[in-house]
Parts: sequence; structure tokens; C-alpha cells
Amino acid sequence: DVKTDLLEWSDEIYRILGVKPQAFDPSYRALMTMEVIHPDDRADVIKAHREFLSKKTACDIEYRLLLKDGTVKYVNERFQTLYDDQGMPTCAMGTVQDITERKRTEEALQEAVSLYRLHFDNVSDVIYSIDSELKFISVSPSVERLLGYKPEELIGRPFQELNLLTSEYVERAASDTMRVLGGERITSAVYQFIGRDGTKKWGDVSGAPLIRDGQIVALVSVARDITDRKQAEAEREKLQAQLLQAQKLEAVGRLAGGVAHDFNNLLTVILGYGEMALQDLHPDHPHHSLLTEVRHAGNRARNLTRQLLAFSRKQVLEMQVMDVNGVVRGFEKLMRRVIGEDVLMKMALHADPVRVKADVSQLEQVLMNLAVNARDAMPEGGVLAIETGIVELDEAYASRKPGIIPGPYAMIAIADTGVGMDRETLSQIFEPFFTTKTKEKGTGLGLATSYGIVKQHAGDIWVYSEPGKGTTFKVYLPLAREEEQTEPQVVERPRPIMGTGTVLVVEDDPPVLRLAGDILRASGYQVLQSGAPEMALKLARSHGGPIDLILADVILPGMKGPEMVEKIREIRPQARVLYMSGHTEDVIAHHGILDKGVRFIQKPFSMEALAAKVSEALGTMKNEK
Ligand code: ADP
Ligand code: MG
Repeated sequence: DVKTDLLEWSDEIYRILGVKPQAFDPSYRALMTMEVIHPDDRADVIKAHREFLSKKTACDIEYRLLLKDGTVKYVNERFQTLYDDQGMPTCAMGTVQDITERKRTEEALQEAVSLYRLHFDNVSDVIYSIDSELKFISVSPSVERLLGYKPEELIGRPFQELNLLTSEYVERAASDTMRVLGGERITSAVYQFIGRDGTKKWGDVSGAPLIRDGQIVALVSVARDITDRKQAEAEREKLQAQLLQAQKLEAVGRLAGGVAHDFNNLLTVILGYGEMALQDLHPDHPHHSLLTEVRHAGNRARNLTRQLLAFSRKQVLEMQVMDVNGVVRGFEKLMRRVIGEDVLMKMALHADPVRVKADVSQLEQVLMNLAVNARDAMPEGGVLAIETGIVELDEAYASRKPGIIPGPYAMIAIADTGVGMDRETLSQIFEPFFTTKTKEKGTGLGLATSYGIVKQHAGDIWVYSEPGKGTTFKVYLPLAREEEQTEPQVVERPRPIMGTGTVLVVEDDPPVLRLAGDILRASGYQVLQSGAPEMALKLARSHGGPIDLILADVILPGMKGPEMVEKIREIRPQARVLYMSGHTEDVIAHHGILDKGVRFIQKPFSMEALAAKVSEALGTMKNEK
């Protein structure tokens, strides 16, 4: 009562202030003295009181108390003042309620919410919820990293409208969503998402229904970005496919090499005797033209075998250091003739020499195969571009290519503007006999052979093509090392001549042995023949006259050719050596090339070639050991 200053209160005040009734002494015309109000809230309380007094409204405020023992309590104070006719206050009445408990609960809730918010805002997975109409209710900010959208661009909009999935996954995601809205949980559903800029991302999604009052009202989901993992998997699969391909080619190569080897021995005999018979026949003889046909067919068969050998990497290479630019230039004229007039040829050769150690004729074969393919791909004309350069193949490239050592490589690129290839074709082009051409045009051996040749040079072929967009092949060959950077002197092949001297022929294939003997005798040599190394050693010991040359097969029963030669040379140190083989597994196995100073003739050989090699071997022996 304002007039009488009478103050009445309920007992609750003792509990709120934590005092005994005797100790309670209201010294002001209010229940709460300033001392008990929390110092931080005092100014607010005073301000609120003033406002309510001036406006004559009801007071309803919350503030804290700080009790003597340090306890903090929240109270809600409400009161109303009554006024008389003159507008003077007569009395005020109200309540002070302890709301500490409610405040604490609210605070705890607030804390929980902000903790949750912190997780939500900082989690790297995308957390989102979708209502039963498939509209986004919430999306964590991490969505921006995954898809490039800000949460507010998604919230409130229906999932289907947003085009967030690649077409292959729209249906699956829709059915998964319906399942979750039907009460199921899903774990680990993988979808492909599309970001705002079109980037495709892989997401691993799990979802659960959100149930309120027994009703499913929404679904809550987490999407994890697994793009990196997916890419690594794809990479691994690709590697495996490449390895498989390499192994397949290897196996086919071995088969081809095996066949070619036996075939070579047969061809040697066919061609050798064919030629000898031809030499004995007068051109007017009715059999002369028949035998010419036999020789012709034999030669074609020999070329085919050469290709098979090249593919199986069993070819003996005559390696020399050369400038790739020189090879390309020297080959230009021929290539122009091959590609025809409708095709424009452009050359961009590296300014400096690009030196590699290679077999020139083999390298030319590769260039020719690629050029012919380019021409075939451009029936309406186009551009054939040849470029050379030096590139560094790094660890990353090498690790994906079995057998490639990182380092500097010569690069020859042959690009056409032709029809290109689809993936299916691309995956098979290096397989022997794979062709998309008609029987007259294609053998399917061009690229298989090129692949074999390049691999035998420790190099690599790389291809890029798209249907309708042309094709680029790049051939990489290891750059020649510094100490090899000298041009070899050109070996002049002497014309075949009649010779003199004694040749010891060692060959385990009897027809080839006989043929070699016949050719050499026909060329004027004295011949000792042996089908096995032991026999050859015996002959070397027992023969009365000199032995000028040993003509030996590289692989012999029981003993390798070089081993036998060494033994014979202990008895006959003057004897010179010429090896022959169509199949040089041992030579290849060690270096893939002829050792320097070792003479070699490739089977099948013609009469002329053998006579020439033998006379060359006998004539240039002086410098050899
Ligand atoms: P061939 O030329 O006898 O068919 P290849 O081994 O040289 O055999 O080539 C195999 C196949 O690879 C060809 O039939 C063709 O389908 C494809 N090909 C090769 N080079 C090209 C190219 N430059 N452009 C388009 N397709 C090519
Ligand atoms: Mg071809």
C-alpha cells in the first residue's frame, strides 16, 4: 500500500532468497533490494522500473539474483500498480517467481543446439533432411564443397527439380528415398552427383526416417564424398586392363615367335634351293618362270615372318645411334608417295638432333605402318602431321607402363585428321590380325608389329583418338646416352663374290645345314658340315687343313653357339665367326642386340646374302680379337 507503506508478502520469498523469516527485513518498498539483484542486471532492472512507472503499465521482467552465498537465481517479476482518480498510485501488487530451473533447461538446450550447429556447420560430409514432399529442410554448408551450391539455394526446393544427380542415378535415388520415407533405413547407397558447374562427384549416402508422433515426417541423410576413392578404383582397373593387354600381347608374341622360328628354317631351305636351281637354269627354260614364282612367294612369306618376329620381339636388331629427324627426313619422299595427293603432310621437327639407338629399317617400318594407317583413315583427304621432340617420361607415366624406365625419350608424333576410333576399337588395335579394313586392305599386323618393334627398343607407343576427331600416335624411344652420341660409320656391304677358304658350318636343322653347305660350296668355299657342337669340335681337331670361318647357329643342342665357338677357337685361334639364327632368344634375352663385333645373318637367308656375309666376315677380320 503506497499510502500506508504496508508491505505484505508470501513465505516463498524466504525460499527464493534463502533466508530465515526473522532475518528478512524489507528496507525498501519492494521485495528485492538492489543488493540481491545481480550487479550485471541492476541497470536493466532500474530502467525497466522507471519505464513502467512513467508509462503506468504492468511490469514483467526477468533478472538474476546473486545471493550472499554466491548462488545465482533467475526470477520473473510481474506487478501492476493501481492509481486513484487523480492518477496517484495507491498500491502495487504482483509476484516474484523463481524461474531458475526453467532457465537452466533452456540454457542446456541452447548449448546442445549450438554444439549440434557447430558439428553441422563444420562436418565434411553433407548432412541434409528432406520432407515428405521431397523438399530440402536443411543442408549443411559442406554441400558447397561437394556440389558448389549454398545451403540456402537448396532449402525449400524439391529434390527432383534441382538436377543434382546424373541421369543414371535419378531413378535409384528416387526409389531409395521412397523406401526411407516408408520407414526403412538405407546405408551406403552410391550415387553420382552433378555439381553446379557440371563436375561429377561420387557420394556414398545413408538415410533414416525422422518420426514425429508416430508419423514419418522427413528423412535425414548423410552423403560422403568418395570421388577420390572412386577415381583410384577406376585408375586401378585401367592399370589392370593395361597389364592384361600387355600380357596377352606377350603370349601371342611368344606363339608367333615360335611359329616364325620353325617357319624360317623351312623358308631358308625353300628360298635357298629355289635360288640355286634358278641360277642353274637358262632363262628360256620352261621351269625358270615357275621357279621365279616360287622365289617370289618365298620372299613374301619371308616378309610376313619378319613381321611376326618383329611383333614377337625376336628380331635381331642392328642397333646404331642415329638422329630421328634424319630418319624422318630421309623417309619423307617415300611417305609422300604413300599418302597420296589428297593428304597434306606437315612436318615439325625438333631443332636439334634427337638421337636414339635404334635399328633404322625397323624404325622406318614403324613410321610407314603409322603413315599408311593415317592415310587409310583419311579417304577424303586431310592433314598428316609428323612431329619430333624430346620429352621426359616421369615416374607417374612409367609406373603405369610395364617395362618403361623414367627418363628422357625421343618422341615421334604422327597425327591425322581422319575418322578416328571408338573405345572398343582402341582397346584392340595392337592385337595381331585385328583390323577393321577389308581383306585386301588390312592385315591387322601393322600396329602389332610396330608395338613389338617399339617395345624391343625399350620404348612405348601412346595413342589418342576419338571418333571423327582424328588420331595421334606417339612413339617414344629412349634417348641415346652421351657416350653413344656418335654417328656410326656406314658399313659398306661388299658385293657377293666368289671366295676361297674353309668354312665349318654347325647347324642342327639338317636341311638348313645342307643348304648352307651347298651355297658355300657353290660360292667356292671348302665346307665342313656338322649337326652338333661335339661333332664340330671333333672336326676342328681332326681336320688337316686350316679353318677360316665358323658359321654357327646360335642355339644348338647341348651347348650354345658362342660357347662352342670359344672351345673351337682354343684349337683354331685364327678362325673367324659368323652366327646365324632366326630365333635369337639368348641374344635378345641379354641385350636384344648384337654384341659389338659379332657378325650375324638372319634366317632365312638368300644365297647372295650368305655369300656376301661370309666374304665380309673373312675380309674384315683383321681388327677382331
Ligand atoms: P590394318 O591397318 O591392317 O587394319 P593395323 O594393325 O595397322 O592393321 O591397324 C589396326 C586397326 O586399327 C585398323 O584396322 C584401324 O581400325 C585402326 N587404326 C589404326 N590406325 C588408325 C588411324 N590412324 N585412324 C583410325 N583408325 C586406325
Ligand atoms: Mg595398318
